[in-house]
Amino acid sequence: ERPEIETIFACICDLNGVMRGKRVPADQAEKITSGGLRMPLSLLGMDIWGEDIEGNELVWDTGDADGLCDFTGRPLSPVDWTSRPAAFAQLWMRTENGEPFPGDPRRALANVVERFRKHGLTPVVATELEFYVVDPSGRTPQPPCSPVTGKRLDSDGALSLDELQHFDAFLNEVYDACAAQGIPADAAISENGAGQFEINLLHVDDPLKAADDAVLFKRLVRGIARKHGFAATFMAKPYGDRAGSGMHVHFSLIDDEGRNVFDNGGDEGTELLRHAVAGLIRTMQENTLVFAPHENSFRRLLPGSHAPSSVAWGYENRTVAIRIPGGSPKARRIEHRVAGADANPYLVLASILGGALLGIEGQWEPPAPILGDAYSQTLETLPPDWASAIEAFDKGQHIEQIYSKRLKRMFIQCKLQELRRFTRHVTDFEYHSYLEAV
Ligand code: GLU
Ligand code: MG
Ligand code: MG
Repeated sequence: ERPEIETIFACICDLNGVMRGKRVPADQAEKITSGGLRMPLSLLGMDIWGEDIEGNELVWDTGDADGLCDFTGRPLSPVDWTSRPAAFAQLWMRTENGEPFPGDPRRALANVVERFRKHGLTPVVATELEFYVVDPSGRTPQPPCSPVTGKRLDSDGALSLDELQHFDAFLNEVYDACAAQGIPADAAISENGAGQFEINLLHVDDPLKAADDAVLFKRLVRGIARKHGFAATFMAKPYGDRAGSGMHVHFSLIDDEGRNVFDNGGDEGTELLRHAVAGLIRTMQENTLVFAPHENSFRRLLPGSHAPSSVAWGYENRTVAIRIPGGSPKARRIEHRVAGADANPYLVLASILGGALLGIEGQWEPPAPILGDAYSQTLETLPPDWASAIEAFDKGQHIEQIYSKRLKRMFIQCKLQELRRFTRHVTDFEYHSYLEAV
């Protein structure tokens, strides 16, 4: 259908949310759509640098066997920031004997959605992705120069129309690319940090599509930023002293008649909403590793930053992890505010929807909603650092009710390898502070 496309990037999303894959000439497209493409299963469990995990049973026990890559069926997503017209094809993985591969994050989300379907419910999901545009020339990020004034952005401030207008050409291209790729982009705002933006994607009644959209969106924003001479980053906290970047998730559930089952005509929402909130609260500490998967993610979860640090919920409250937005009862929904923009969208949605489902199935009751400033109250907290989040995920009672054992093991191995590498790295700050001073 698109004769101008010369190259197809056939990709799979790994556990870190990184798309990996092959560059295939367009005349071989048939191979992609017919499931004839093979890639090693271990691809999904690689560490963030794309390296095999030490002692990865998946690699060594099977001799690093291939999996079969299935086309997800989403139309090709054309991109035009490559030198010649190209497109992305999204794939997911089956094992050689035809079984869906349980270590595939997209599969994990599909499993949770299927369980909702058994209750006659469909999650309706929207993501809000924050990112920074940065000057790519330095070793550490710094705000870019405005394409209009040529001056470096220096002040923070939310909802700046100037910033939106200065980056108009970039944003126009982002919106064009979203349209070309079938990503339902809604409003853009200039966020708190200098060069920080947020683009909301509209609600869709297919969580797999919402996650597919989010990973494609992150790639297209980075690609278009490069074309305009800057870089874009979804790192959770690129600057220690500026706002972090989150990936808020809004969701509701509809029944087979399309009715929102969180809507009771009032402000507080239904019993089902309460059970879902209770599920999210009770599984939040265990799932924090998914929401904050890297060392850097924990720098974002600071009191007073609009990012949550405690396990709490409330109505129209942006200081808590779970906010029930106000507005029309028809649109009653849950906003989950824990995940950073650096998290894997498939796993984030699987953890959120999976947690909510456990609460609904168990008819759990949530604690009282928080009123006012949660940062100044003594509340149960999220795991304070990466190592404790890995441990909470490993020991958590509910993780295996959301994820397959295989995925759980692979994710832990992957995170432990990243943590080991990080721990061995001496930072510049340490040299600066201690080298000749102590
Ligand atoms: N940037 C904040 C975060 O890290 C969120 C700000 C907002 O409420 O949109 O989650
Ligand atoms: Mg925001
Ligand atoms: Mg939000």
